[in-house]
Amino acid sequence: MTRLEVSDLKAYYFTSRGVVKAVDGVTFRASESIGIAGESGSGKSTLGLSIMRMLQPPGRVVSGSIVLDGMDILAMSEHEFNTRVRWKRVSMVFQAAMNALDPVYRVEEQMEELLRYHAYGAGDARELMSSAVRQVGLDEGVLRRYPHELSGGMKQRVVIAMALLLRPSLLIADEPTTALDVLVQAQIINMLKGLKDAGLMLMLITHDLSIIAEIADRIGIMYAGQMVEFGSTDQVYREPKHPYTQALLASIPRMKGEKRLTYIKGSPIDLLNIPRGCRFYARCPYAMDVCRDDPPAVDVGDGYVRCWLYAKH
Ligand code: SF4
Repeated sequence: MTRLEVSDLKAYYFTSRGVVKAVDGVTFRASESIGIAGESGSGKSTLGLSIMRMLQPPGRVVSGSIVLDGMDILAMSEHEFNTRVRWKRVSMVFQAAMNALDPVYRVEEQMEELLRYHAYGAGDARELMSSAVRQVGLDEGVLRRYPHELSGGMKQRVVIAMALLLRPSLLIADEPTTALDVLVQAQIINMLKGLKDAGLMLMLITHDLSIIAEIADRIGIMYAGQMVEFGSTDQVYREPKHPYTQALLASIPRMKGEKRLTYIKGSPIDLLNIPRGCRFYARCPYAMDVCRDDPPAVDVGDGYVRCWLYAKH
C-alpha cells in the first residue's frame, strides 16, 4: 500500500527579487522508507516542510497534492491537519534542531509543552515521554536533565524522541547526522535503522548518500527543484541513470579500488531565473539539442528518470 504519494507538487518562495521555484513539479510515491538527496538549494528541505505544512512566508505550496495514509493533507483545513496529522501522523526533525533546545528548560518540560498543546493529561504524558526516549535508546533519567548536560549525540536523540512523542507513522529527518562526529553519526544511523525496522516510515533528507544507502529503501534525487531520478535505492546505486545522479555517486570517496573522485563542474542554475529545457544542461556531459526542451519523466525499472537520454524522440 502506498503510504505517501506526492503529485506534481510546486512550492515557491515569493521574494522581492522574484519567484524562487524551490520545488517545481515533484512527483513520487512510497510505501517504505525513502531518502531525498541533492545539493544544497535543490529543494529537499522545502519538500519536507511542505509535507509538514510548515512552509513559512514568503514560501507557500502553489499546487499539487500530498496524500499520506490515504488522506489528502493539502485539502485539509489548518485545524484538521493540526489535530489529526501534524506530529501524530507525520513528524519532522528539523535541520540543526538540537541547537534549538531551550537551555533553561529540562527535557521533560520541553516535551510536556507539546503534549499539553495536544491535550494530554499528566499520566499519559509521562508514558508517552518515557516510551519516546526509550525508543531512541536513552533512559528516562534524561527527561530530568537540561540540554547543556547532554552530549551532541544525546541532544540529537532527544529531538528525535520529541518528534516521536505522538507516535507518528512517518518521520521526516532533515540532515539528522550533520554536525555530529563520525562515531556518533554511526550510532544515530543505527538508531534510525532500528526505528525503521520497528515499522516507522522514514523520509531522510540529506546530502550524504551513504546514510541513504544504509537506511532507505527508495531514493529520490533532487536537482534545481525537480526530482530527476527516483527508484529503489539498490537500483539507483547499482545503475544510476541520470547524468547528475551518476556524477553525484562518482563523487563519493570509496575505500576500495583506484577510481579517481570526480566533481560536478559548474554551479546549479539560479532558481529565480530558470532557463527552458533540462536544468542540468549546462553541466551535463551528454547534453544534446533536444535537451533545450523540458525532459520528460521516463519510467525505468521501478522508478523514473527525467532525462532525454532515455526517452524515445
Ligand atoms: Fe543531460 Fe540532456 Fe539528460 Fe539533461 S536531458 S541530463 S542535458 S542528457
